[in-house]
Amino acid sequence: MIYLNGKFMPMEEARIPVLDRGFIFGDGVYEVIPVYSRHLFRLEEHLSRLQHSLDGIRLDNPHSAREWEERIRRLVELNEPEDQSVYLQITRGVAKRDHAFPKSIEPTVFMMSSPLVTPSRETLEKGVATISAADNRWLRCDIKATSLLPNVLLRQMAVDAGAAETILLRDGFLTEGAASNIFAVKDGILLAPPKDNLMLPGITYDVVIELAQSIGLPCEVRQVAENEIFSASELLLTSSTKEVTPITSLDGKPVGNGKPGPVFEKLHAAYQAFKHSVMRRA
Ligand code: PMP
Repeated sequence: MIYLNGKFMPMEEARIPVLDRGFIFGDGVYEVIPVYSRHLFRLEEHLSRLQHSLDGIRLDNPHSAREWEERIRRLVELNEPEDQSVYLQITRGVAKRDHAFPKSIEPTVFMMSSPLVTPSRETLEKGVATISAADNRWLRCDIKATSLLPNVLLRQMAVDAGAAETILLRDGFLTEGAASNIFAVKDGILLAPPKDNLMLPGITYDVVIELAQSIGLPCEVRQVAENEIFSASELLLTSSTKEVTPITSLDGKPVGNGKPGPVFEKLHAAYQAFKHSVMRRA
């Protein structure tokens, strides 16, 4: 079951007019919220990032936080899996094609749920391969915009190279992955690029930094230079569905000894424990 403009319905019944600005311009924003045992993980944080994205594209939020929560909970109830990934998107709505904002139209609000697929045991044991590429996106990567063409092309570069993700570098520094945030480890210190306009402020990124602090793992939030990425003893990628995933190769060369390292093991254990404690409290 999906949600479209106030109604729940089977996916096959949903219809969007071809002049929707989401279709014509990619003029919209989105969120992906992981659901564990029907508990909405970090909902408040996802809704506040949604507000940031809406502000970034100058679109009024069609719902209060409470209205969002009611609708998302209902969608989760209507779908079977205990663990789900809720995707929601808001576009500027339907209007005659013209770049400028149309006056007084209703936004299109769409939500769907898929089974949540977190990294397999094999992925956690072996890690994933990555490639590096120049970050050629716009300068508002902090907005979770549906116009994802650069991210799509960058991710496909990884797939074409038999890798899982593309690590993006801009002006000699790490920004993020095509669809994830990236952390490096150097001398046992977790390095994270600062949240600015060049990367998406990941919800999982914040959780990982909080967990590092709580388990006493040294962490520095600062610009991470390209050479620190290529000489890191460990690299990690994070996202709501990939959680904390170890990266074991970059551009065909092993990262560290080519195996998931001790910092990954600690953060992975802390992340799983945190997830379970949140679910128990819910
Ligand atoms: N950066 C980009 C470009 C992303 O698309 C994503 C999410 N897929 C992330 C970072 C990670 O964000 P989150 O932890 O909130 O899923």
